[in-house]
Amino acid sequence: MNHYIVLWPMVVITAMMLLMMMTIRLLSNAAIEYDIKNDLRKSMNQSLKYISFEKDGLKIEDEFWYIQDCTFVILRTDGTVEAGNYPEKLKEKIKELEVPERLTVSVTSGTEKYYVRDVKIGREHTKWKYYVRGIIKKSDADSHYATIAMVSYLNIICVLAAILVWGLFYSKRVSRALDDMCKTAESIGTSFDITKRMTENYKFQEVEVLAQANNRMLDRIEQNFKQQKQFTSDVAHELRTPIAVVLAQCQYARERMLSVEEHEEILDVIFRQSKKIDSLIIQLLHLSRLDQDRIEIQDETLDFVEIVQSVCEEWQEKLQNGIRIRLKLEEAYSMGDIGLIVIVIQNLLTNAVKFSRPYGVIDVKTGEASGESYVQVTDYGIGIAKEHQEQIFQRFYKCDKSRNAEGFGLGLALSKKIAEKHGGRITVISELGKGSTFTLYLPVQKKIPSENF
Ligand code: ADP
Repeated sequence: MNHYIVLWPMVVITAMMLLMMMTIRLLSNAAIEYDIKNDLRKSMNQSLKYISFEKDGLKIEDEFWYIQDCTFVILRTDGTVEAGNYPEKLKEKIKELEVPERLTVSVTSGTEKYYVRDVKIGREHTKWKYYVRGIIKKSDADSHYATIAMVSYLNIICVLAAILVWGLFYSKRVSRALDDMCKTAESIGTSFDITKRMTENYKFQEVEVLAQANNRMLDRIEQNFKQQKQFTSDVAHELRTPIAVVLAQCQYARERMLSVEEHEEILDVIFRQSKKIDSLIIQLLHLSRLDQDRIEIQDETLDFVEIVQSVCEEWQEKLQNGIRIRLKLEEAYSMGDIGLIVIVIQNLLTNAVKFSRPYGVIDVKTGEASGESYVQVTDYGIGIAKEHQEQIFQRFYKCDKSRNAEGFGLGLALSKKIAEKHGGRITVISELGKGSTFTLYLPVQKKIPSENF
C-alpha cells in the first residue's frame, strides 16, 4: 500500500518550511546589510580620529589601519590612491564604482559582496583634500543577525526532518491498518460471508472509528439480508396454503364426475382462495412501491370526518355478530393521498372488528390535538400483550397465528409505512383482554376555504 495518506500533507509542510526559510533569508539579509552599514559608519568615524593634517601633509597613525573588519584606502580627489590598498578581488571593480557622499554602496566581486563608503577629509583653505574610503567584506562582518538566521535554518531543517521521519513512520502504520481493513472487505466480497467483521483494536483512533463504522454498516446489511430472507420465506409460506387449496380443488374436480352444485362449491372455494392471494399481492405491491418511493402520493385535502363517515357507512352494512360502530367526529384536516389514508383506516377497522367480541362496540373518533389531526379506532376485544405491541408493525407478524388465519400480518406494516410517508405516525395503546386503541396522526392542515371561489 502506498503512503499517499501523508504524502500531500508532507509536501505542503515542506513547501511551507521552504517558504519560511526564504522569508528568514530575505529578512536576515536586510537586517545584516543594515548592521554592516552601521558598523562601517562607526568604524569610519573611529578611523578619522587617527588622521591629522600636518604642515607637510597628511599624518596617519598606525591604529588607523587596524580597525576591526574594515579596510581603509585614502584617495585623492582625482580618485588616485594616496595610502592603503584595496582588497585584491575588488581592485578591478572599484574603478567603475561611484560612491556618493554619505551613502554606503555595495559591490559584488565573484562570490563576495563588499560595502564601500567615502568620507571627505581635508581643510577647506588648503589644497589637500582627500577621501577616506572604508570597505567591509560581507563574509568578514560579524552580524548577530547572521547567527540568528543560521540557528533558524537549523531549527527548520531539524523540524522538517522530524516531520518527514514521523510522517513516513505514521503513514506505514496507517496504511498497514487500512491494508488490513481492505483485506477483510475483499474477503467479505469474495466469500459472501456477511458475518465477518473488521478488527476494531487499532492503534489509531481514526482507523478504529472507521472500522467500527464499517462493522456497524455490516451489522445493518446482515440484518437486512436476514429480513429479506425471512420476507421471502414468509411470502412463500403465505402463498402455499391458498395455492395448495386451489390445486387440491382442481384435482378433485378433474378426477370425479361432479354435479353442478358441487362444481359451484369448488369454484367458490377457488374464488375465495384466489381473492386471498390477490389481496396478499396487492399489499406486497403497495409495500414495495412505498419502499422504493415508486408510488405517487397525491397532495389532496384530507377531511377526516368525511373520509371516516364514508368508510364506516360501507362497514356498517358488512358488520356481523352484533358488532356496531360508534362515531364521535370532530373537525380534522390534513394533506395527503385519500386512497392511501382510506387503506389505513380500513386496516384499523378490519382489525378492530376481527378482534372484537360478539356484540362489541368500536369507537371511531376524529379531531385535532397539538398540531396533529387524528383518526382513532378503539375496540374492547382481546387486546394485545405488552411484548407484542412493538412487533405488530413488523411485516408478517401475528400475535396469535391460530386466531388470525385470514390475515397475513401485513396490514399494520403497510399502515405505518403510509403514515410515515405522510409525515405522520400510528400509535397503539392496548391491554390484554380489555381492548386496543390505534391512532393515526398526521400533521394538521387547515381546510382550504373552497366555498370562497
Ligand atoms: P393482519 O393484516 O393480518 O390483520 P396486521 O398487521 O393488521 O395483520 O396485525 C398484526 C397483528 O397484530 C395481528 O395478527 C394481531 O395479532 C395484532 N392486532 C392488530 N390489531 C389488533 C387489535 N385491534 N386487537 C388485537 N390484536 C390486534
